[in-house]
Amino acid sequence: MIYPIVLYGDPILRRRAGPVKEFGPELATLAKDMVETMYAADGVGLAAPQIGLPLRMFVAIEVADREDDESLEGQVIDEPTDDELTPEQKRRAWGVVAEHVIVNPTITLSDDKQFGRDGCLSLPGLSVEDVPRAQSVVLEYQDLNGEPRQLKADGYFAHVLQHEYDHLEGVLYFDHLPADRRESFLAENRSTLAAWQREARALAKERASARAVRAAPSGRS
Ligand code: ZN
Repeated sequence: MIYPIVLYGDPILRRRAGPVKEFGPELATLAKDMVETMYAADGVGLAAPQIGLPLRMFVAIEVADREDDESLEGQVIDEPTDDELTPEQKRRAWGVVAEHVIVNPTITLSDDKQFGRDGCLSLPGLSVEDVPRAQSVVLEYQDLNGEPRQLKADGYFAHVLQHEYDHLEGVLYFDHLPADRRESFLAENRSTLAAWQREARALAKERASARAVRAAPSGRS
């Protein structure tokens, strides 16, 4: 199943997500659906809050050495491939070497820095150059069986993992920019961001009234 992706302006993107407590077939299905949703959106990572679930969980792909390959930029594949391609065809076209499902992670950042481009499926079409991030990371996390795991990464993949981890903390990529660059990013994209915020508010209202309807007595007994 492919989930709709939550856009900037939805409060869930600014909240700290809570731990995953139940490991079982439902979690495995969710992970599979998140991977499918990520490929459908031409993303290299997707966090649970981006599909409206306040859970500490994300999926991310690792691609073959891309020193000379600028086709993968930030969180999003720059030139979206044909929508008709299956996830398996995208795996081959992008040179995916591993798919990771990360549950309840903690992250350790290196002191040395890298500067890279960030985009985000929740801010479609926007990106920023030279976002400062740690050069390498170590994630301690649980797999889908709840078993403890460790993942070490550096360079581009470490950049992606930091972006996804941030989503579990309610952090978005432009938060990492120096104040002046952050302000100009927000100013340059003011109308786009405002449109998403209006849409998100309308959707949140719809969700709230759907809940109210469900909670109301049906009148039948
Ligand atoms: Zn993102």
